Amino acid sequence: MGLRAKQRYNFSEKKTNQGLSPSALIRTGDKVVTAKTMDELVSLCKRRGFVYQSNEIYGGLQGFYDYGPLGVELKNNLKQAWWRAMVYERDDIEGLDASVLTNPKTLYYSGHEDTFTDPLIDCRSCNSRWRADHLKGAKCPSCNSGDLTDPRPFNLMFKTNVGPVDDGKSFTYLRPETAQQIFTNFKNVLDSTSRNLPFGIAQIGKAFRNEVTPRNFIFRTREFEQMELEFFVEPGTDEKWFDFWVEARLKWWSDQGVDQSSLELQTIEKEKLSHYSKKTTDIMYGFPHGLEELEGIANRADFDLGSHTKGQAELGIKSKVKKNTDSAMRLAFQNKQTNEWKVPYVIEPSAGVDRGFLAVLNEAYKLERLPNGKERLVLSLKPHLSPIKAAIIPLKRNHAGLLDEASKIKKTLQSLQLGRILLENSGNIGKNYRRHDEVGTPLCVTVDFQSLEDQTVTLRDRDSMKQKRVLVSEVPSSLRDLLGT
Ligand code: ATP
Repeated sequence: MGLRAKQRYNFSEKKTNQGLSPSALIRTGDKVVTAKTMDELVSLCKRRGFVYQSNEIYGGLQGFYDYGPLGVELKNNLKQAWWRAMVYERDDIEGLDASVLTNPKTLYYSGHEDTFTDPLIDCRSCNSRWRADHLKGAKCPSCNSGDLTDPRPFNLMFKTNVGPVDDGKSFTYLRPETAQQIFTNFKNVLDSTSRNLPFGIAQIGKAFRNEVTPRNFIFRTREFEQMELEFFVEPGTDEKWFDFWVEARLKWWSDQGVDQSSLELQTIEKEKLSHYSKKTTDIMYGFPHGLEELEGIANRADFDLGSHTKGQAELGIKSKVKKNTDSAMRLAFQNKQTNEWKVPYVIEPSAGVDRGFLAVLNEAYKLERLPNGKERLVLSLKPHLSPIKAAIIPLKRNHAGLLDEASKIKKTLQSLQLGRILLENSGNIGKNYRRHDEVGTPLCVTVDFQSLEDQTVTLRDRDSMKQKRVLVSEVPSSLRDLLGT
């Protein structure tokens, strides 16, 4: 979403943990559930192949993470859920996938070259660096020295070179947000789809910020993904659409299993707004490390199209924009009745994929103490987000008949295209159930010797742990019911 610099609101004032104790006990039915710490999530992610530290064999690379076999599935499922809600289920939004490397002019006119900065403070004593708005008090968090430099702006954009010659003129930026390429493609999309206002352009993709202090696992990284919608509306209808999108986005997070009670809306005070913003409301989530931004929703008025358009003088732009002498396109909309050209206003819901991943994982992670006194770790993800939709488990490992039957079931379920179906040929049923509870597989299908005689299998439900015997022919509809498809 945004240019940060001095317009950022006061971190220490706003981003406090509002009573969400990591050791709180939650009661669900007859089970007692303990909320988790970040360490527990990190440990699960590594152990089960959700997230690894990037370049780990060479000591890692700070602020970068890799998504493993299950992480990539969960992340894709989250992105698909967003895309479905935005592009497929609505009739007024188009998709886009623009390039990561960005012409410096785009980021000049957007204001990023001047203002996409964080205030940086150095400790003269131990040479560590800190973001001024993350420091509590005037002491270095590392060595407790008070010998700190004054804050100075630090631009967060990564630069690289395009073409064979590095002559200083061929540099380009890795985009710090996906939004700008949506604005620069406004006319292309409009011309190729014949849209009328209001309409939106949605994009999911990587963004890069050279964060001063990346931290809290995948919460603040230097390479991350965003799901951004730019929704273009008639000026004058913007406030109504802003409210609409705040509500819609809250509902969407709730549909992903993020409990409404873990979310809080924070509207940024007028004097702390980014310069492009008429209004911004952040959706805050109670992460294990505290209440922090999950998604920002901004009314960007006519700032962006107004900044990138040619012919600014004739368009009556309300926002304060730089004079554009380079743009080759008019980024405006013509009213068919009056023939008048107007720059639409923009409402932007901008969500982080990685922060969303962390939030749904955190919500789903439950250490249950069962009535029999045993504990089980279960990831009660919404089934549409589960990395594995069903595990097919032959009772005995490498038994030709059981394996053959299990393979047939796997093939049938896989052909439904509901997501990944896994054939588990490791034999130990109890261990397999526990493993699949931990990674959130909603359904286990056990093939035993009786299955070979009467074509029935055991279905085991992750959340209730209940088992039932059904005909093999009924398994696809059971899985569909679970996934709500
Ligand atoms: P913050 O105040 O936490 O730095 P921001 O206000 O700069 O965030 P935006 O520019 O609004 O963030 O970006 C939109 C979304 O992109 C954020 O709500 C967040 O989910 C995600 N995001 C931003 N920066 C990062 C990052 N460094 N790592 C992971 N996700 C990020």
